[in-house]
Amino acid sequence: MFMTWFQITHWQHPRFHAYFPSGNSFPSILGDMLSDAIGCIGFSWAASPACTELETIVLDWYAKAIALPTDFLSDSSLNNSESSLCGGGVIQGSASECVLVTMLAARSQAIRNMKEQDPWTEDSAFLPRLVAYCSTESHSCVEKAAMISLVKLRILEPDDKCCLRGEILETAISEDLAHGLVPFYVATSLGSTGCCAFDNLLEIGPICKKFPGTWLHVDGAYAGNAFICPEMRHLMSGIEYADSFNTNPNKWLLVNFDCSCLWVRDRLQLTSALAVDPLYLQHANSAESIDYRHWGIPLSRRFRALKLWFVMRCYGISGLQNYIRNHIRLAQRFEAKLLNDLRFELLNKVHAGLVCFRLRGSDELNQELLANINASGRLHMIPARVRGKYTLRFCVVHENASEEQIDLAFKTILEQVAELLSSPRE
Ligand code: PLP
Repeated sequence: MFMTWFQITHWQHPRFHAYFPSGNSFPSILGDMLSDAIGCIGFSWAASPACTELETIVLDWYAKAIALPTDFLSDSSLNNSESSLCGGGVIQGSASECVLVTMLAARSQAIRNMKEQDPWTEDSAFLPRLVAYCSTESHSCVEKAAMISLVKLRILEPDDKCCLRGEILETAISEDLAHGLVPFYVATSLGSTGCCAFDNLLEIGPICKKFPGTWLHVDGAYAGNAFICPEMRHLMSGIEYADSFNTNPNKWLLVNFDCSCLWVRDRLQLTSALAVDPLYLQHANSAESIDYRHWGIPLSRRFRALKLWFVMRCYGISGLQNYIRNHIRLAQRFEAKLLNDLRFELLNKVHAGLVCFRLRGSDELNQELLANINASGRLHMIPARVRGKYTLRFCVVHENASEEQIDLAFKTILEQVAELLSSPRE
């Protein structure tokens, strides 16, 4: 049936507390407008040199701002490491694409390795042996990437803090090796979608090293942006083991959709999985320049670095830190209110801007509470299942979120709780 009831869900409204933030700010909008006005298609350096070069420079800036290991930088003069690999960053359209292209790169590398032993076998014949890993907390895009890549995916149980641990990964890998499978990719999260949990990279990283050929990807789509604040960086301990890392400034860095940053430690591994080179796309400078068409799936690319550049220049690192810190402080204010009311149960440790909570009681009770809150039109939130329980997710999302807004949101929730608990129950 055709719906005639057109509605906008106002993601930028101060009482929108669902999902994660959809970044927005005036410099970002101006950057996108300028990109649209220039209207270039920057698939190769020659197709638009400034589009390519600004992307490379701004991604290096951002990598430094969030303290990624220097291996991930494109500029080798900034890269202090001994490594002979050449890393670099690229803007993708979404975190899902970051996960997909890194899985394809890892798959391609694994097939090349297997072909060394078995050169006459068709590439596709190796696929049934490949296995990737993630946890039940990983975003569904990992499942989708495995589906597209035609590989097995083992979805592992995290610990009671929703954190994937090394031991469970090692056991799974050992079991699979014993069955003749080939582990090739581990997807971890720093800031999971459901409850913003952080996987233990310090344990997982060495396991990936112990089984060579296992690519470690770190998905920090939302919370990765918080590493711009030095006090948050303990949550990325172990990032030095990662082969790739992504974070979306279009979630939590005031940049409007789309802008998902991906860094790889070895750009050749990525490009060798994705490069095709017809004559009409070749140019005289390809040996010494970056052609981003080899770093992702689409050929055509917009000048997305402009909006990230505008935001970084306009707010500065300290302005962006203030924005992140304000959200975290407000989430902790909301958390403190919940902890003061024994009717509520808190389901996550509040590291970032997300608070997961529920009323002590049944899933049905909490479903009814959330349905009533959303139906009131005064607040919007979504649920998640955390440790098997139906949970309400409250995310601080507004650009200029304030104590008044948070207090008002909590008051609205309390009113809905009072109404729900006073109504006769079966
Ligand atoms: N990874 C995490 C941790 C997410 O929270 C999300 C979405 O919220 C995604 C991946 C998917 O992001 P995208 O919509 O950019 O593909």
